[in-house]
Amino acid sequence: MEEIVSLCKRRGFIFQSNEIYGGLQGLYDYGPLGVELKNNLKSAWWKSIVYNRDDVEGLDTSILTHPDVLKYSGHEDTFTDPLVDCKSCGLRFRQDQVPDQCKDEELTEPRDFNLMFKTNVGPVADDSSLAYLRPETAQQIYINFKNVLDSTSRTLPFGIAQIGKSFRNEITPRNFIFRVREFEQMELEYFVLPGEDEEWHKKWIENRVSWWEEQGIPSDKLNLLEVTGDDLAHYSKSTVDIMYKFPHGEEELEGIANRTDFDLGSHTKNQKDLNITAQVKDNNDSNTRLAIQNDDNDWIVPYVIEPSAGVDRGVLAVIYEAYTVEDLGDDKRRTVLKLKKHLAPIKSAVIPLKRNNDDLVKLTHTIKSSLQQYQIGRVVVENTGNIGKSYRKHDEIGTPLCITVDFDTLENKTVTVRDRDTMEQKTIALDELNKYFLDFFSDAKS
Ligand code: ATP
Repeated sequence: MEEIVSLCKRRGFIFQSNEIYGGLQGLYDYGPLGVELKNNLKSAWWKSIVYNRDDVEGLDTSILTHPDVLKYSGHEDTFTDPLVDCKSCGLRFRQDQVPDQCKDEELTEPRDFNLMFKTNVGPVADDSSLAYLRPETAQQIYINFKNVLDSTSRTLPFGIAQIGKSFRNEITPRNFIFRVREFEQMELEYFVLPGEDEEWHKKWIENRVSWWEEQGIPSDKLNLLEVTGDDLAHYSKSTVDIMYKFPHGEEELEGIANRTDFDLGSHTKNQKDLNITAQVKDNNDSNTRLAIQNDDNDWIVPYVIEPSAGVDRGVLAVIYEAYTVEDLGDDKRRTVLKLKKHLAPIKSAVIPLKRNNDDLVKLTHTIKSSLQQYQIGRVVVENTGNIGKSYRKHDEIGTPLCITVDFDTLENKTVTVRDRDTMEQKTIALDELNKYFLDFFSDAKS
């Protein structure tokens, strides 16, 4: 973990947030390379969930959330973690995360600590203006169910997908970007006919495991954990967590829950007429029926299958998998980030052999612009003047292809291309470079 944190800071993937004023715990900023990697991961998810299917619509909703949403969802009452104080050092911990040095000390009885951040909307700061920063993106999907249904004329089964920020005031944020207070989620709420829920739950578990494999996480590092007992949310018929062996241990990367008709049933009006199977709070505030008519014109409250993944945990997992230190013999080693091509923050670096040679530098910029036009991802000019250092840097940040412009380029119209993984170098005619580039990245569209 330490090596990864250090690489992330040194190369501009991830920084501690608010650092120049001492930092704020549990918050991180994504730097120039981190934002590319994160966007690439989110884009791969969106393409797989929305574009490559014909049964899912996208959504982007507000972060500030009406308190009634989180009242009827149950978050106001139950979105809590057990908090204990160590009587010796005075620090507070989540009951299941007390560090070794306090385990033998006297602890207070656990009490419920609600993880939601509160704020006020508008100029008056009292209870009437209370709002929450959403603790998950899902609730806003449910409350937009009718809007999406009416504007798209969908029939069951269909899904609504959203990627966005969520906020949880975690008692003990830790393990770098694994457990933070502000993070992003990629959530799909997939609405199905009651009775077809178990089959769809299975399908989504398979789908999501193979998607993580496509992002470079081998299947032997992923475990499926059936959540049981007290860990299973009261509304869930079944939840399977995709567990990954993070640098600090095996923990949840994504959860896939069969949430029955609890969510739409909680937020709908006319609950009594809808044969809701889940135990929901009586709702006299909602002004909208969240149900769909079947062929016989009966109203059905769909069941929901929810694959919910953390973007930040995903970023940590793909960096950790890609991080490789290779022994090159003769006491030489190289660090290389073997990211899948579609995730690499920079697709290609174009490097002039000499930084002060105007002709070389000009041609380098022309080549960069020519390759950038395909918008496969970011192409950069790397003009540090030291070819060895440039290769080392681009290995370390996972750039799949380096293109060197030298005096042969000016004379013979050729460039040297170097493959990150094999380190193989080839001479390519300049007028074939674009085709070579497109072929090289043909599998990078995810
Ligand atoms: P955990 O048990 O680790 O606290 P959770 O079961 O509360 O997680 P969910 O509510 O199922 O998590 O959220 C779905 C996903 O959102 C998780 O699988 C995880 O990837 C991500 N996630 C949840 N909380 C955090 C957090 N504090 N920091 C980063 N990612 C998070």
